[in-house]
Amino acid sequence: MSSTLIKNIGALYSGDIAHPVLDADSILITDGKIAGTGKNLAAPAEADVIDAGGTTVLPGLLDSHCHVVLGEWTPRQTALGWIGNYVKVGVTGLVSAGETHIPGKPRDAAGQKAMATLSFKTYGNVRPAGMKVYAGAFILHEDTTEADFKELAELGITHTGEIGLGSANRVHNAKPLIGLAHKYGIKVLCHSGSTYLFGSAVMDPDTVIGLNPDVVCHITYADLTPEVIERFFAGTDSHIEFCRTQIPNIKNTVEVVEKARERGELHRLILGNDAPSGLGVFPLGIWEMICLVSGTAKMEPAQAVACATGNTASAIGLEDVGTIEPGKCADLVICDAPVGAPQDTAGDSIAAGTIPGVSTVIIDGKIMHRGASVNTAPPKREAVCVKA
Ligand SMILES: [Zn+2]
Repeated sequence: MSSTLIKNIGALYSGDIAHPVLDADSILITDGKIAGTGKNLAAPAEADVIDAGGTTVLPGLLDSHCHVVLGEWTPRQTALGWIGNYVKVGVTGLVSAGETHIPGKPRDAAGQKAMATLSFKTYGNVRPAGMKVYAGAFILHEDTTEADFKELAELGITHTGEIGLGSANRVHNAKPLIGLAHKYGIKVLCHSGSTYLFGSAVMDPDTVIGLNPDVVCHITYADLTPEVIERFFAGTDSHIEFCRTQIPNIKNTVEVVEKARERGELHRLILGNDAPSGLGVFPLGIWEMICLVSGTAKMEPAQAVACATGNTASAIGLEDVGTIEPGKCADLVICDAPVGAPQDTAGDSIAAGTIPGVSTVIIDGKIMHRGASVNTAPPKREAVCVKA
């Protein structure tokens, strides 16, 4: 049995938006899982000990919208090695929104099912830089059948790619498929707003609201009126996503956050990158979205972090990640205000709209990155391993 104690935590964010700050200064990790949190917990004999130095610890960040293909290959950017840069800034999970960037992507159910199966199985065999990739997000086409959902659910695939990227993209042909997905416990993502260079459909509010998917992707990829924002909340049960790349309309973002707050429904908001894409690779994109919804839309920092952790785990049905509580995977980020900032804590930094500096990233209880990286400003105070 291996144990690690993280002690001297200045602020501990839970990832649970209902109780986003834990009254604790220590986390005990056993065999890669959170064993407990508390005050002044003692280290078991032979445990590794990390001194957080009074800094902030939060759950590993989950990117709710990522167009992975295979490994770290991103054909749209002809880049390799990008997933490692995400891990260095504290992103520990990527939710695929469809493995659509493969050159010559299949445009029928059989081809999509093959692609999703390949992606799911290969990411199941290898984790680039330790990243957990939730892949196999097959795109819905008009010829998708119940047998396809059954087969994919039996593989362990948790969710579909975005409705709107395949031929089943209207209420009359996609709604029955959503019913089949739900029959097999599969969550459904749906593109919303404008089209994209490589052929997604325009998904207008009437269609998206009529579909009532599990996730309304990048809701601000359109100009939203207050009436339409109200309808998205009142007319669906969906989680509502903001994305870094799909034109994050800042005015609409603030209005959607205000609507969620007014309705007591901040648990419905999640944050994604929608990258890699033709628009770029954004290691800090999730942090940018956290700082946008906190610094500009005035969400409490720990709530903003919950939108990128626990809320996303709930949206996709990821049961072992997203929050810091006993039994969950010990996927953790240790961070602080960045060098040069006037703030002295990560929370104050986020509330001011400034991305914290990350000192340590832990996945399944193992340190995957420690110290400065080129992808983030250095933190004022760093966690140190005092016994290992
Ligand atoms: Zn989309």
